[in-house]
Amino acid sequence: MLVIKDLNKSYDTGKSKLHVLKGINLSIDEGEFVSIMGSSGSGKSTLLNIIGILDEKDSGIYELDGIPIEHLSEIRAAEYRSKFLGFIFQSFNLIGYKTALENVALPLYYQNIPRKERNHRAMEYLEKVGLADWATHLPNEMSGGQKQRVAIARALITDPKVILADEPTGALDSKTTYDIMKLLQEINREGKTIIVVTHEPDVAAETKRNVILKDGVIESDEFITQRVLQ
Ligand code: ADP
Ligand code: MG
Repeated sequence: MLVIKDLNKSYDTGKSKLHVLKGINLSIDEGEFVSIMGSSGSGKSTLLNIIGILDEKDSGIYELDGIPIEHLSEIRAAEYRSKFLGFIFQSFNLIGYKTALENVALPLYYQNIPRKERNHRAMEYLEKVGLADWATHLPNEMSGGQKQRVAIARALITDPKVILADEPTGALDSKTTYDIMKLLQEINREGKTIIVVTHEPDVAAETKRNVILKDGVIESDEFITQRVLQ
C-alpha cells in the first residue's frame, strides 16, 4: 500500500537547517493498523504530513498504492489526497457553521457528487459512527468525542485507501479515547489501513504495529499483540 525508502526531510529555519527525518524506511501493507510514537519534536507529524501529501520530502522514495509521489502539482496532490487518503486531526478541523451532516458530506462536494447522493451517503456514515440523531447539529453543540466521530465519518466517506490520524485522541478524556479507538479498531477490522500518530502508550497498544521515531530515525518497528477493545 505504502513504501518509503531512505526518506529525508529538513526544514530551513533561517539560521540553520533542521534535519527532521534522516533516512526513514517504512513499508505498510493494506489492512494494517500502525501507530507512530516518539517524543515531541521527533518528526511524527512531519512524516505523517509527507505520507498525506500535505508536505514534500527532500529525497528518497515514497510510493502510495504503487504511484511514486514526486514533484506533484497542487492539483494532482489534491486529487491523490481526495482519492487515496482520509485525515483525522487532534482538533477535529470541522467547519463551525456547517452541520454534522454537511461536514461529513463536504469531501463529496469536491468530487462533484450531486447533493442528494452526498447527503444520503453522509447520513449512512453518520449512522456508522453512531451519530444519526445529530445530523442537523453544529460542531459547537457536540462533545469532543462526538466531533471526532463526525471527523471520522468525513474521513471515511470517500472510501480512502488509508486513514491518517495525527493525535486523534489528544484532546479527549480516557473514556472517550477508548470509544474512539474502539471505533477505529472496527474500521480496521473491515479492512481499512490506518496510521495513527500518538504519544499515548495505551493508544499504541490498541493498534497492531508500533513504530518509534527518535532523533529522525526509526528506533524500533514491531508488530504487537493488539489490545482489542470490547
Ligand atoms: P512531532 O509531531 O513529533 O512533535 P514535528 O514533525 O511536528 O514533530 O516536528 C519535528 C521538528 O521539526 C520540530 O523540531 C519542529 O519544530 C520542526 N518543524 C515542524 N514543522 C516545521 C516547519 N514548517 N518549519 C520549520 N520547522 C518545523
Ligand atoms: Mg505532531
